[in-house]
Amino acid sequence: MTITPGPREHLERIYDSLIAYYGEPKWEPDHDPLGGLIGTILSQHTSDINSGRAYQRLIETFPAWEEVRDAQTNKVAEAIKSGGLANIKAPRIQNVLHTLTEWQQEQGGKDSLANFLNAELKERPLEEAWHYLQQMPGVGPKTAACVLLFNLGRPLMPIDTHLHRLTHRLGLIGPKVSANQAHTIFLKALPPEWAYTLHVNLIQHGRTICHAQRPKCGHCPLYAECAYVGSIDPQETMLPTK
Ligand code: SF4
Repeated sequence: MTITPGPREHLERIYDSLIAYYGEPKWEPDHDPLGGLIGTILSQHTSDINSGRAYQRLIETFPAWEEVRDAQTNKVAEAIKSGGLANIKAPRIQNVLHTLTEWQQEQGGKDSLANFLNAELKERPLEEAWHYLQQMPGVGPKTAACVLLFNLGRPLMPIDTHLHRLTHRLGLIGPKVSANQAHTIFLKALPPEWAYTLHVNLIQHGRTICHAQRPKCGHCPLYAECAYVGSIDPQETMLPTK
């Protein structure tokens, strides 16, 4: 199984070409990992608009996460109903908050849950912080990486279906490498300051050009770097026919 990314120069050209095409996004973490984690749970299987509304209503109804934890589950579900699957997401959120409370109590901590999680994640080396988050109920490698990257500004690139497809097509990971394994590969191989920009630009590229079906290869700024284009029938892509 290939689990090493391609040569550094290949990665570098991809990184630079994406910046030339899509620009360099601003990395502005809010240093609120608990809010980010709960926002991620709310965003599952719904649009950003609906989950944003649900989050807003949740924090208006319960100004502290400890209040969400201690509320009746049906009241939490009522507050987040605009995000869909409220009866599943409400107990999931409370489960995370109860787990965090147990961890804090084991250490005799008295701070808010938000401050406690922030401190725990900032103190740990990056990979350890990633595994720590994954010990929470319902938190997988991608969610943990999202919280670290977007909320804490720690350079671990989340690998969703877009990134998994693209990094495979571009020959950065081998064909048998799972999305979960890819997290560790990029954690070790990527210059930390590239993680946010590469993630955001690859997501953009997956949404606009490198679709799962019929990618627009004829318009692709990464065409020269792509390991995939030579292996497929031009009819299956939007490649120029000559
Ligand atoms: S050349 Fe085609 S398959 Fe390769 S990255 Fe670009 S759009 Fe995707």
